[in-house]
Amino acid sequence: MASAPPIDRHGRSLGVLRLSLTARCNLACPYCQPDGQEPSGLLSLEQRLQVIEAAVALGASSLRLTGGEPLLHQQLDALISAVKPLRNHGLREIALTSNGLLLTAERAHRLREAGLDRLTLSLDGTTPASMALMAGLPDQPAAERALHQVLAAIEHARAAGFTPTTGHLKLNAVIQRGRNDDQVLPLAALARQRKLELRLIEYMDVGNRNGWRQADVVTAAEMVHTISQRWPLEPLGRPHQGTASRWRYRDGTGTLAVVASVSQPFCGDCNRLRVTADGIAYTCLFAAAGSGVDLKPWLQSSDDPSALNQGMAALWRGRADRYSEERELAPDRGTTHAEMAYLGG
Ligand code: SAM
Ligand code: SF4
Repeated sequence: MASAPPIDRHGRSLGVLRLSLTARCNLACPYCQPDGQEPSGLLSLEQRLQVIEAAVALGASSLRLTGGEPLLHQQLDALISAVKPLRNHGLREIALTSNGLLLTAERAHRLREAGLDRLTLSLDGTTPASMALMAGLPDQPAAERALHQVLAAIEHARAAGFTPTTGHLKLNAVIQRGRNDDQVLPLAALARQRKLELRLIEYMDVGNRNGWRQADVVTAAEMVHTISQRWPLEPLGRPHQGTASRWRYRDGTGTLAVVASVSQPFCGDCNRLRVTADGIAYTCLFAAAGSGVDLKPWLQSSDDPSALNQGMAALWRGRADRYSEERELAPDRGTTHAEMAYLGG
């Protein structure tokens, strides 16, 4: 008989596996600062499948593929296709977060055909100047090209069948005070015009390289206030185990979402497990560097195929993380955080 799905020390079940396929990126957003190279010991496609299977067996119904930039990963389509059979075992959706630069029309179609359900594209500004600043691009021409590519990617995704009005295509934007807070309204206008849900994300203290300061965080409440002054909003709430609080435009032009992980933490129902490209499992986005559990010994052992499930179940049962809620209580704990692009944002 299958054992009951594990519950962590705060009564939370596992619902989402966020799997990072690469720590590398083709952008260098200063708030993220990815590694220029992969860690050693990257997982193979077969090992990634084993991890996904184990997570689904332990209760995960959603798989989000991320990075680094996941479109740099050569076996992305093959992995998505290979995961399909797990839909008969509890997997309900496969999603991808990408900066969109490499999303050609053809790539978008291939991803859809392979079985990708949802796509979230990231864009932090509507002008070449803001794009350059937020994506770490060297000059105006590079920023213009990148902006053009992301805007085209949105349309390629739509044409391939990722429908925004059903929530299958969304736009992420990180807002940082003094850098792109002037882009809140233009981004909302762009998303409204293209009928996309915009997800405004508070700048988070993930990693150590970005020099995060609380003062640089534009809170979700401020962002909602700014937008509602222009286009009145009404609250839809935060779905159970969701990361975003959602709002509806009163004029009927779609929805807006805000991810308030700093100002209104949602650790209480966090159901996410992160696994890095080299197979290290982390139970919190704000985890200390080096605190993850290496799954590779269980992936390499052919003697006991149940060892991976048991190891991951034990990891989840021992999970006590609620960093974002504790930040308020002990703001400077001197923690060396694992980097965002390595963890899989
Ligand atoms: N490269 C892909 C992308 O940018 O969409 C996927 C990986 S990226 C780490 C995933 C998401 O994390 C992006 O939407 C990015 O904007 C967000 N992110 C990265 N660093 C962040 C930070 N310090 N605070 C808030 N969001 C961050
Ligand atoms: Fe790359 Fe995404 Fe990090 Fe930007 S946020 S540097 S696109 S991984």
